[in-house]
Amino acid sequence: MTQRTALVTGGTGGIGTAIVRYLAKQGHRVATNFRDEAKAQVWQKAMADDGIQVCLVHGDVADHKSCEALIEGIHHKCGAIDILVNNAGITRDTTFHKMTYQQWMDVVNTNLNACFNVTRPVIEDMRTRKWGRIVQISSINGQKGQYGQANYAAAKAGMHGFTISLAQENARFGITVNTVSPGYVATDMVMAVPEEVREKIVAQIPVGRLGKPEEIAHAVAFFTTDEASWITGANLAINGGHYMGW
Ligand code: NDP
Repeated sequence: MTQRTALVTGGTGGIGTAIVRYLAKQGHRVATNFRDEAKAQVWQKAMADDGIQVCLVHGDVADHKSCEALIEGIHHKCGAIDILVNNAGITRDTTFHKMTYQQWMDVVNTNLNACFNVTRPVIEDMRTRKWGRIVQISSINGQKGQYGQANYAAAKAGMHGFTISLAQENARFGITVNTVSPGYVATDMVMAVPEEVREKIVAQIPVGRLGKPEEIAHAVAFFTTDEASWITGANLAINGGHYMGW
């Protein structure tokens, strides 16, 4: 397998850590961003104790200038980015009639505008080198909508619109662009949901449980292989059968 350089945004989070781990174990050089240095160092040490070296560079995906510096920093430390996983994300849930402008903007900036901020400084180089893999981590709720998540569902659906346009523009440059849409996965983001709500969610999942971060990582890693070069513009739902539509 060819060793590549991968950037996984939000790599210190639940799903991000699993993706970082999976790609590193496949032999890739893996980088991620951090915002809180002390927290990132603890995470980096835990990964190193497990034999996984991760290149860490400061970066806020919601901030355009910060992302330019992030990409430059990674380029400098670990080389040009071949694999990009736009994974960083947040929720700020509330029904739309109570939603503040800030709640809307924070979610759209972190989930959707981040795709522009991070991908734009990476794409030119991928096109020049005629190889690239870009994967967006969207959500089941971008596919089916969700009560209390107009901001998040809009941003996540937008991510797939981004995927299918970028896939068309870059197919002839050896670059594939795909979306992974996870259902409810047992990370901090979902464990923050009240237990009784979580139980109701699990009751709607035919497989009968929350997903595991590793199950998302496995699919992301598949999209990044040479063998997946004819898969572009796809949206892979991984949700235990929770939603089987588009
Ligand atoms: P976590 O909350 O565990 O991790 C989120 C990660 O994103 C953290 O590393 C966090 O860093 C980072 N992040 C957040 N905001 C920013 C920012 N402005 N700039 C840089 N990094 C940022 O979430 P999950 O692992 O659960 O989620 C990962 C992705 O998967 C998200 O896009 C989420 O929407 C999506 N998803 C998750 C599902 C789930 O069930 N968990 C279901 C469907 C989709 P920091 O520590 O600095 O906050």
